[in-house]
Amino acid sequence: MTTHAVTLIRGDGIGPELAAVTRECLQATGVKFDWDVVDAGEATMAKEGTPLPKSVLDSLRRNKVGLKAPITTPVGTGFRSVNVALRKELDLYACVRPCRTFEGVAAYHKGVDLVIVRENTEDLYAGIEFEKDKEDTARLLETIREYRPGATFGAHVGISIKPISVERSRRIVQYAFEYARKHKRRRVTAVHKANIMKFTDGLFLEVARQVAAEYPDIPFNDRIVDNMCMQLVQTPQDYDVIVLPNLYGDILSDLCASLVGGLGVAPGANIGTAGAMFEAVHGSAPKYAGQNKVNPTALILSGVLMLRHLGEATAADRLERAVAAVLAEGREVTYDLRPGKSTVGAVGTREMGQAIIRHLGA
Ligand code: NAD
Repeated sequence: MTTHAVTLIRGDGIGPELAAVTRECLQATGVKFDWDVVDAGEATMAKEGTPLPKSVLDSLRRNKVGLKAPITTPVGTGFRSVNVALRKELDLYACVRPCRTFEGVAAYHKGVDLVIVRENTEDLYAGIEFEKDKEDTARLLETIREYRPGATFGAHVGISIKPISVERSRRIVQYAFEYARKHKRRRVTAVHKANIMKFTDGLFLEVARQVAAEYPDIPFNDRIVDNMCMQLVQTPQDYDVIVLPNLYGDILSDLCASLVGGLGVAPGANIGTAGAMFEAVHGSAPKYAGQNKVNPTALILSGVLMLRHLGEATAADRLERAVAAVLAEGREVTYDLRPGKSTVGAVGTREMGQAIIRHLGA
């Protein structure tokens, strides 16, 4: 039996407790892992002076597969996002987030089964920002005024640059079509705001249409992002594989997660040519840290995606069935899945993990 070397990033906030439970569930499938347990994030910043030590990147480069619990990103100040840095450093260009309804999980809609394919490396997440009232910002503004004489700005303006390239749009749309073909999906929908941002979103749409023509067996359509939000809230069953630039992908991921029962049940994968990293859609929810309270399902289902990536399809199916059974029974689930999100009758993170492990044997 193969032993899989996997980097486990424990994260911060609710991360470490979710990582521990997920690791136990994965091991209970009988698949053999050689875990390299590493830390990144706020506490690591305090200890090592960087939130993302080189040793973490080295481990991921060596093992080529990582499971990552959530990591806090301070808002406005402090270090840049470790999550974004990991995806960029390892060129994990495709963020894949399956979103389906589960029996027993209260949701706005029944029968939702869609997959978000989000571009992970460019767009407004490129990290090219200019702070208000700085010299480099003033120089940039001068250049913009020279080339776009009609452009006007407020007196104190910050600027973020939104790069969208032909090459990276092509590879993410191709990924979406290959995914659709492999998983026998019904359709690919590209999402954009091409009517307003003609040279970035317009480019993305043009490339998406070119790629779609190379996959005549898979129906294709496109939607403007605001309309798409409305359509997803009203009739999410009409959609299947949805491919989007980075920012829209981020926003629609949470919207879709809430359609099927919330962030507690939304898994994800970041895939590149040289490796893959699996993580929940949700963040580090610091206010719940250390309380054995939050739902481990999203990270466990991310583990299921990892098992599939490792070629352990039987174990993946078993673990997914065990999770689905616990959700369907609804007796040993965390507070977020209880009526009115009440803690009454809810179990903790560890106890839900134990229930899933028991169902693995069933
Ligand atoms: P969040 O996803 O951490 O939490 C928002 C709310 O969703 C929580 O207050 C909670 O009510 C609910 N929730 C989240 N996960 C849950 C779970 N497993 N079970 C039950 N309920 C759950 O979003 P936030 O508060 O906006 O972000 C907190 C921090 O996480 C920020 O620093 C943010 O940058 C970071 N973040 C990290 C990642 C990542 O590591 N990939 C992703 C998103 C946000």
